[in-house]
Amino acid sequence: MHEWSLATSLIKEAEAEAHRRGAIKVHSLTVRVGILTGVVPELLERAYGAAVVDSSLKEAKLILEIEPARARCPACGKETEFEDFLLVCPACGGIGLKALSGEGLVLTRMELEVAG
Ligand SMILES: [Zn+2]
Repeated sequence: MHEWSLATSLIKEAEAEAHRRGAIKVHSLTVRVGILTGVVPELLERAYGAAVVDSSLKEAKLILEIEPARARCPACGKETEFEDFLLVCPACGGIGLKALSGEGLVLTRMELEVAG
């Protein structure tokens, strides 16, 4: 399951970051998910919920931000923002658009509690 390995690697990354910052508790993780990753947010949330209880993050909440895709049409050069997988240029109907964003899955923010 793709989402399971993403969830566990996000948790590992967050644990390492929390450790670096000397956090005693992690309240939440914010993760930006590009729509072109093909990640299903509900599945990622479920996998995270199951994996996080066995980690040092305990009850840290997962907050997902869905990032739309931007793509440029190779035929007419127009840049468009997409909220689904249909990368067809609305200006000229061209296909084979080049994605400029929307392909990443990034831990963007952590809400931490630091001792002292
Ligand atoms: Zn076009």
